[in-house]
Amino acid sequence: MLSCAVLCLNCTVCRLARKKIGFLPNFCRLNKALGGGILNIFNAEQLHPNGLMSLFADVILPLPLPKRSFTYAVPGDLAGRLMVGMRVEVPFGRRKLYSGVVERLHDHTPGHPVKSVMDVLDDIPVVTERQLRLWEWLAAYYASTMGEVMQVALPGHLKLSSETRVVYRELYGEDFSDFSADEYLVAEALLLRRTLSLDDVRLVLGKKTVASVIQRLLDRGVLVLREDLQEKYRTKKVLAVQWTEAYEQDPALFKEALIAVDKYPRQSDTLLAFYTLLQRDRLVRKRALLQKLGTHSDAPLMSLVRKGILEVVAVEESRIGRKMATEAAFSPLTPVQSSAVAAIRAHFGQLRTVLLYGVTGSGKTRVYLELIREVMEQGGQVLYLMPEIALTTQLTARLQQVLGASVLVYHSRVNHQERVELWRAAAAGRPVMVAARSGLFLPFKDLRLVVVDEEHEPSFKQFDPAPRYHARDAAIYLAGLYGARVILGSATPSVESWHNTTTGKYGLVRMPVRYGDTPLPRMEIIHLAEAAKKRNLQGVFSDALIQQLRDTIRQGNQAILFQNRRGFAPLLTCETCGWTSQCKHCDVSLTYHKQGHRLRCHYCGYQEIPQATCPACGGGRLMQIGFGTERLEDDLVIHLPDARIARLDLDTAGSKERLSALLHDVEEQQIDVLIGTQMLTKGLDFEHVQLVGVVSADQSLRFPDFRASERTFQLLTQVAGRAGRRKQQGLVLIQSWNPDHPVLQDVLKGDYEGFVDRELKERRQFLYPPFCRLIHITVRHSAAHVAAEAARWLAAPLRNFLGDRVLGPVPSGIPKVRGLYAQEILLKVDPSRALLTQTKSGLQRLCQDVSVQPGWSGVRVAVDVDP
Ligand code: ADP
Ligand code: ZN
Ligand code: ZN
Repeated sequence: MLSCAVLCLNCTVCRLARKKIGFLPNFCRLNKALGGGILNIFNAEQLHPNGLMSLFADVILPLPLPKRSFTYAVPGDLAGRLMVGMRVEVPFGRRKLYSGVVERLHDHTPGHPVKSVMDVLDDIPVVTERQLRLWEWLAAYYASTMGEVMQVALPGHLKLSSETRVVYRELYGEDFSDFSADEYLVAEALLLRRTLSLDDVRLVLGKKTVASVIQRLLDRGVLVLREDLQEKYRTKKVLAVQWTEAYEQDPALFKEALIAVDKYPRQSDTLLAFYTLLQRDRLVRKRALLQKLGTHSDAPLMSLVRKGILEVVAVEESRIGRKMATEAAFSPLTPVQSSAVAAIRAHFGQLRTVLLYGVTGSGKTRVYLELIREVMEQGGQVLYLMPEIALTTQLTARLQQVLGASVLVYHSRVNHQERVELWRAAAAGRPVMVAARSGLFLPFKDLRLVVVDEEHEPSFKQFDPAPRYHARDAAIYLAGLYGARVILGSATPSVESWHNTTTGKYGLVRMPVRYGDTPLPRMEIIHLAEAAKKRNLQGVFSDALIQQLRDTIRQGNQAILFQNRRGFAPLLTCETCGWTSQCKHCDVSLTYHKQGHRLRCHYCGYQEIPQATCPACGGGRLMQIGFGTERLEDDLVIHLPDARIARLDLDTAGSKERLSALLHDVEEQQIDVLIGTQMLTKGLDFEHVQLVGVVSADQSLRFPDFRASERTFQLLTQVAGRAGRRKQQGLVLIQSWNPDHPVLQDVLKGDYEGFVDRELKERRQFLYPPFCRLIHITVRHSAAHVAAEAARWLAAPLRNFLGDRVLGPVPSGIPKVRGLYAQEILLKVDPSRALLTQTKSGLQRLCQDVSVQPGWSGVRVAVDVDP
């Protein structure tokens, strides 16, 4: 039978219907941008009466449903516009509407009736083919669903659903003159009511499909999604004064400018004051400048602006007042750094991934910069992943200083408009994206290099919600999709990555010395038991530590004190009856926080006001047990009454602004002693820190986790690495009750390789990663016995399949959190791909079945692959 239509399955625009086909092209001609869609030949029966084929779209919906996508019919009038990767508005269930992403277009009529796509939201695909493949891999590898992946991968503005509420953006004003009728109606309604749900919008327009109107208003900046509005981090803008570009480029022009304004004393005063302030900060606040001049009038300043010497710009508060690193732009590489660069390039000839193992302060950033520059020169893109972006203002500043505006920073805390811009920038091929783990999901155009800085950091792993992915591992997969290279960098590489270098999977490049040949800090251990015996211990501070703190401050240097526990005291107990402060919802003790005078649960956020006497016996006195950072701060004041002490932990680093102000103060030596939690270990680079004290090294070693040794080694080595980074050798004092612990001995010797060899031996012997893959399952329910039964029910078939490689179920280390009891099962699976795939898909089926068992609808199962 003669074919009567040729149709592209990707774009449906290459419609050659009813034309006689002389020859058949190999791919769609109109769809070259996508690499050419696949053409299909249709015969008369497959075509609708109106001459259009019957087209179906498989749509990913942002729901945690096991099914990967749902099939919808595409009405003829939409078929011409729809492409894979675009969003569509579709009905789901009885009343709900969602925007989903089309992952496939096809002509396979489903065996059951399907609903229709209601609207197409995009003109160009918002998700690329490669992104979809990353999503697929994440869903499969981390035993989650495409819907769950879509939830984390798409930024808020690309996810509209019935539940979405939109809010009028005051900043927009009221100029709706060039709006379409629909846009105008919605804008008017919003102006009156300020906030609307998508269902309200439907009523306003008398239409079922409204997502595309909303999208257009969003793009115009008339409205924002409410969830975006609730962002904690709103960037405050302030006015700053800076050189115009010409003066920025050529510092010699400054003298000429001074001569030019010589006749106007107020202008030359302004210029000189500006110049002085600029020596201190990269950006000068307008207010600070006027203050320095002792005037309220900005007339002389504005004259300088009119003369093209200075300019006044609105910038984010957080970018002000931070002195830039002294590093000159692209300072020369040291010999060690250049041979590292050469070695990395050589490895990249054969391998995708290279581990850069460089001691703290070896200047890994400079090595990344060299590789980044090369990619930029070739017009490619770089993804620079770093842990917990809020803490890395120092590093982003350093990158921006050298690479300028090519660097964009992407993380979950940037606001809606910025996120839209960043998303577009990635698609347009902007060269460098610095990002936390969510940067993986950007629609890169031509990714050539991924840098994973501090690759050992646990915060690269997403814990909740699913998909519980590891950004480092996902980045390596992502790089594979683009043929890009990956550089993993750390002074304390993860055991897994190190293992991969020994098997030849990753290349290994070492940088064993610090930049400027500053020696690594001297490490000493303080035996707490002995100190106690000799009465050299005051609270948690040994005399030796206090003495060193005093000396350091006296010499005009700074110190860091590390204690991985925030709050004042982790436990409150009654001297008489032994009552302890417990959370109502969790099996954990409430931590006493002096700030705000509260007892707080660090797991669920519950808090209460502590009572003066014991609530159980009514009489007993309450004792504070243990030391958090708050208490250290309090106690230290007694020992060092004149020192300027500050604290860096979750409670003080609440906002980006406060955090950068604090880091700025440390940098400017306004602080003598910085006390903090593990936040201190993340790549901070302060010139004058000479002493690092670890208040207690034992705590993290006791943690019941197979990574406890690894974590301890990393934490201690990293925090120690903050000492003596520039000039003379630093000193690290580690207080411990178990000074002979082998991990502490390795830290003391700075012997990473000794540590990792022993650790790998132990992991092999006791069968832990990398010698097996772990899958951790948590079963939760509000009734302890239901959680236990459901966990046993899950474990039984798994045990049939994997035998004694199934551990548990056992109650979790913290049996109850947020009112839910938890049971845990651990699977140790041989790292064969077939077995892993089988295990995961079996597990996913079981997880679906669990909640449909009678009485178990409230059972929640969380699967964590590679915990
Ligand atoms: P790492 O990340 O390896 O701990 P950094 O990249 O923070 O080390 O570098 C440590 C310090 O040395 C930084 O202050 C950096 O500016 C400086 N530094 C490193 N390499 C160079 C170089 N080639 N020229 C000038 N300064 C450098
Ligand atoms: Zn009591
Ligand atoms: Zn709690």
